Amino acid sequence: MKEFEKQSLGIFPTPLHRLPNISRELGTNVWIKRDDLCGVALGGNKVRKLEYLLADAKKQGYDLVMTTGQAQSNHAMLTAACALRLGLDCILVLKKRGVTSCRGNQILNKLMGVEVRFVDTDSYDDIYEEMDRIGQELGRKVYKIPCGGSNALGTLGYVDCMKEIAEFGQHFDHIVCACGSGGTAAGTVLGAQMYLPDTHVMCSMVDNDPFDVIVPQLMKEAADLMGVKVPIPVPDLVEMWGPGYSIPSEEGNEAISMMMRLEGIVLDTCYTGKAFAGLIKRAREGSYGPDDHVLFVHTGGAAGLFAQDWNLL
Ligand SMILES: *Cc1c(COP(=O)(O)O)cnc(C)c1O
Repeated sequence: MKEFEKQSLGIFPTPLHRLPNISRELGTNVWIKRDDLCGVALGGNKVRKLEYLLADAKKQGYDLVMTTGQAQSNHAMLTAACALRLGLDCILVLKKRGVTSCRGNQILNKLMGVEVRFVDTDSYDDIYEEMDRIGQELGRKVYKIPCGGSNALGTLGYVDCMKEIAEFGQHFDHIVCACGSGGTAAGTVLGAQMYLPDTHVMCSMVDNDPFDVIVPQLMKEAADLMGVKVPIPVPDLVEMWGPGYSIPSEEGNEAISMMMRLEGIVLDTCYTGKAFAGLIKRAREGSYGPDDHVLFVHTGGAAGLFAQDWNLL
């Protein structure tokens, strides 16, 4: 198996622990993998991907990194935080749609002083073109990181996470994670196939891109990159986006409240609330027995919670 260089950015392994009150509430054993506590900004899944992506950027001699996402992108904020720490320049080229005031991740971007350019488009192709244009304007080579860091190399981040979980030593019957651009789901399903073959993975889709195609494609590319020959399973994807990407859902908000009230752990409206709502839904449908062990992967995102208007109850 081919190993790829990583730049050390996070504090790994992240904590993994049981949630006693949620376990009682849902009638099964619920555990949590705390990638929200990985040591950069407010934590989050993008750090594992960036350890590979930024190592690749440095190795290839780039000193300017660009990435994209929505205005509240956790990925963009974490890319900036990690790049700056490594002494790389960073420009965020974000989708302008829906931007009204400076909140959540934008506050963190502002505090870092990272350059943010908003583009008024719905198409990421327009944004990648804009990155090339800015690079030419500056006369510099640009290391472009795709939305969510979800390419084959970024996918290796969650393959590593599954290895970490295997090394923890507790058997898990189920793992549940969010699926937003696909890299985390792909790495989780592929990594489970490699290191946790008796564990079922469920991915809560928080937007309605064709993940039934995207996730297996990323798994295949990542497996090829590593030179690993494993069957590429059909991912178990559940629709949890509710009214739409980044729009809070009722089930998501219930999940956020439950996690905060019973365990004092912060989830967010865009990703982890909806992802955990998928776990609650399966538990209530009777998919998990009282002796099952179910692991929820907390992928971070707390800053997004504070970009929302809350007209709560
Ligand atoms: C990006 C993100 C996800 C989704 O991960 P993908 O690899 O993009 O599918 C989940 N949770 C949080 C908090 C994120 O920022």
